[in-house]
Amino acid sequence: MEKKQFQAESKRLLEMMINSIYTKREVFLRELISNASDAIDKIYYKALTDDSLVFDKDNYYIKIVPDKESRTLRVIDTGIGMTKEELETNLGTIAKSGSLAFKKETDLKDGYDIIGQFGVGFYAAFMVADVVTVISKALGSEEAYKWESTGADGYTIEPAEKDAVGTEIILKIKENTEHENYDEFLEEYSLKSVIKKYSDFIRYPIKMDVNTS
Ligand code: ADP
Ligand code: MG
Repeated sequence: MEKKQFQAESKRLLEMMINSIYTKREVFLRELISNASDAIDKIYYKALTDDSLVFDKDNYYIKIVPDKESRTLRVIDTGIGMTKEELETNLGTIAKSGSLAFKKETDLKDGYDIIGQFGVGFYAAFMVADVVTVISKALGSEEAYKWESTGADGYTIEPAEKDAVGTEIILKIKENTEHENYDEFLEEYSLKSVIKKYSDFIRYPIKMDVNTS
């Protein structure tokens, strides 16, 4: 399979994320939940003008699934999903997000929580994960696709299996090092407190499904 390269700008951002020392890494969850919520919003707004689409509130939610055994954290949504092309353009390049606002490296020297202040988006996942996998099925599409990346060295896209429309993000949480501990991102209690802290205003239910095997 061919490995594609990120756009130059995305690559720089990614490197900053991975090497970030000023940021509260926990904000990655805020970013993924806000993307999930945006994706559900897109179905909601579409339903307003499309009679064939009914927005039944009970069917739309965000689910967080930590699993210590596989050291994965999954963020699942029932939003609008992404086509193969959308995976490519949305996750291979920096979107029009707040990201560009902190492009100037001089900003970083002050040691403020720069990344925490701006919406930095999807790439924040690489602060806590060494592999990020995105499995998505777009509304109106029969096929699902899997996007996967280990960081700055690029990404792959291939066909995948997924029944429901929406997106599943799988983070392979980093191993602890002598100085850094990532276990909290697999703990129900700390995840709940991060969600309460940053995502309390989200309009859709955020469920947690803990794998206790
Ligand atoms: P922003 O949210 O500011 O646009 P992000 O880096 O957070 O920037 O996300 C980039 C883009 O990837 C989004 O604009 C969206 O099109 C797409 N995307 C990310 N996560 C999801 C998701 N869960 N469902 C659908 N699309 C998504
Ligand atoms: Mg976003």
